[in-house]
Amino acid sequence: MSVSKIANPEITLHHGDLPAGISFGTSIAIDTETLGLAPQRDRLCLAQLSAGDNTAHLVQFAAGQFAAPRFKALLLDPTILKIFHYARFDIAVLSRYLGVMAAPVYCTKIASRLVRTYTDRHGLKDLARELLGIELAKEYQSSDWGAAELTQEQLRYAASDVLYLHALKTKLDDMLAREGRTDLARACFDFLPTRARLDLAGWAEEDIFEH
Ligand code: MN
Repeated sequence: MSVSKIANPEITLHHGDLPAGISFGTSIAIDTETLGLAPQRDRLCLAQLSAGDNTAHLVQFAAGQFAAPRFKALLLDPTILKIFHYARFDIAVLSRYLGVMAAPVYCTKIASRLVRTYTDRHGLKDLARELLGIELAKEYQSSDWGAAELTQEQLRYAASDVLYLHALKTKLDDMLAREGRTDLARACFDFLPTRARLDLAGWAEEDIFEH
């Protein structure tokens, strides 16, 4: 099954914050696009959100415009699970620019590493292909996310990074339960905000747990 065989997602672009009155239910998939991979240097440009219902809400941030009270409230809401792929990076970036640490979180990459021990391929593209039979395009991953006007291709690519996280979580949760690793996964997810704080505080490369 290729992406083209899936119904066209509904993508809505917002500027600066989510609109009032929007609700995503009890779990929300989130991804971010930045100017690069160094959170202290490369600013947050876009946050993508999906309730897992083939719709995506994208919030575009202009340089230095990070008030976003509604988005921040959602990131902090203890009743809403935030699902990421490689949460460690996204929650560090969100913390650095919005000043709030997202919680509770779920990470499809950590879940994958805990159950898909038969492979070292844990990218979103690898998970979507193996677990969902979906081929994700990655050609816009490295593009200018700081542009004032994002292209339709960029918006579609950005949305595709959150549209399948709920479906992946369902598959990975089954595998975690099968292998008796659900509790270990939860403990890892709960540590992710601390892991992100270590990254931002200068311990990104050094593993303070190693001998
Ligand atoms: Mn992305």
